[in-house]
Amino acid sequence: MMIDRWIAERARCFDASGIRRVFDLGAKLVDPINLSIGQPDFEVPEPVRQAAIDAIDQGYNGYSVTQGAAVLHDKLQTRVDADLGHDDRRVLVTSGTSGGLFLALMMTVNPGDEVIVFDPYFVMYDALARVVGARVVHVDTYPDFRIDVDRVATAVTPRTKLILLNSPANPTGAVADEASVRALAELADQRDILLVSDEIYRDYCYDGSFVSPARFNPRTLVIDGFSKSHAMPGWRVGFAHGPAALIHEMTKLQQYSFVCAPHPFQWAAAAAMDLDNAPQIAAYRRKRDLVVQGLADCYELTAPQGAFYAFPKAPWGTGTQFVERAINEHKLLIIPGNVFSRRDTHFRISYAAPDAVIERGVEALRRMARE
Ligand code: PMP
Repeated sequence: MMIDRWIAERARCFDASGIRRVFDLGAKLVDPINLSIGQPDFEVPEPVRQAAIDAIDQGYNGYSVTQGAAVLHDKLQTRVDADLGHDDRRVLVTSGTSGGLFLALMMTVNPGDEVIVFDPYFVMYDALARVVGARVVHVDTYPDFRIDVDRVATAVTPRTKLILLNSPANPTGAVADEASVRALAELADQRDILLVSDEIYRDYCYDGSFVSPARFNPRTLVIDGFSKSHAMPGWRVGFAHGPAALIHEMTKLQQYSFVCAPHPFQWAAAAAMDLDNAPQIAAYRRKRDLVVQGLADCYELTAPQGAFYAFPKAPWGTGTQFVERAINEHKLLIIPGNVFSRRDTHFRISYAAPDAVIERGVEALRRMARE
């Protein structure tokens, strides 16, 4: 009772991640088929591991400057300038993509502002928007997870502060086509709404090349990171780039919160930028094909074009009922769609797993479709 009174209102506006609940259930299983994990299954490339070890050995263990160690910050700034050529665009190295998202929402959203989120969404968007007191406005993208810009225009009100875009997307694997990205970028610009583009899966595009809305709207705030591109989610290195005034505010809060991204791993991330991850991406394209070919004839599935997720419709029951049986009777760990959505009709498969595990998972799902 006493302790309850200490808990702030903002703690009551969201629940612990539903993905954790599946992890807890799965922890009790012997030899589960684990298709629940949202991180690459390949090892951090050797030169990147060596760069981290070297940085530690050479004493880069103190704080870095808040905006990021020059070795990484300046390299990113050069790349961003070459890619986009915006004169007002600045880089901030953050503590993971999550750190960048947190700083961005904290420094832009006032209580009562509206934040537009495409449903299904990455779990963190809903929770973070609520923490900062936003009213979350969902724009539904079922059944094919395409972005319908007319629907976004309809959802915009005078209180709309921000739109969160994630392409390639978690949990659907959808990649927004260039025309939609452009139309969304232009809508945000015309209506003076901040467009935040979470590009953490930008390297994982299998059927075309990635297109950032920043190309069409120079005021776009981009959030990105190394967790997925170089399989180093535990190292907590991400970055943001956007209009200098926004980056300035985010840097200010980073001084009083994260302080800096882990310093030695910033050196490792700088080394990672010199590597070509095309072989890993090609391997994941094949994994995507394994899943799509394995499920196409028995599941309603929009073929994912990016990231490392598929989001099929449950062939019977709710998403939650289907996943409960998958875990309890087939030892298959997948995530119910309602973790990412207001609907409870689908489930998420992560194919960031060895081929043998994917094959076992596909087999179990084929059996379940017939139940
Ligand atoms: N955005 C999306 C869409 C993600 O899927 C994830 C990780 N699951 C993140 C951000 C957070 O990544 P990071 O490890 O860089 O904080």
